[in-house]
Amino acid sequence: MKLWDSFLEMLSDRNNLFDYRTYYSATVQWFKEHIYCFTPEIISINNLDFLLSLDIDGYITESPDIQLETEYERLKKLNPSSKHTVAMLIADILREMISIKSGTDCPVCGNEMIYAVDNRNFLSCDICGYCMAENT
Ligand SMILES: [Zn+2]
Repeated sequence: MKLWDSFLEMLSDRNNLFDYRTYYSATVQWFKEHIYCFTPEIISINNLDFLLSLDIDGYITESPDIQLETEYERLKKLNPSSKHTVAMLIADILREMISIKSGTDCPVCGNEMIYAVDNRNFLSCDICGYCMAENT
């Protein structure tokens, strides 16, 4: 798909994968340049309006599961069949790199829990994996 090829082409410049902050910003910039390809529904279902406007300095995760060294090869193997799938993949990439601290300690291990990006009522612990809803 041409749209995905364009995203891959941007990432073939390894400078855009220099660190997580750069990768996040480069992905946001690419999406904004191609935003006319996506319908408002696709953008809002995937929470992209939030992800694209986020000031990442306060939210970037120290050690996401994404491996920058192999990220280009990983994405090259994918073959999204629609614009909606492209938007989903990009939202997943962005979400993977950010976390929103909750100020609540994990009842299992004491680590500060983070909010789910899509649902501020849902907390998870990135150390032990414990999850809970906020109002229970
Ligand atoms: Zn925990």
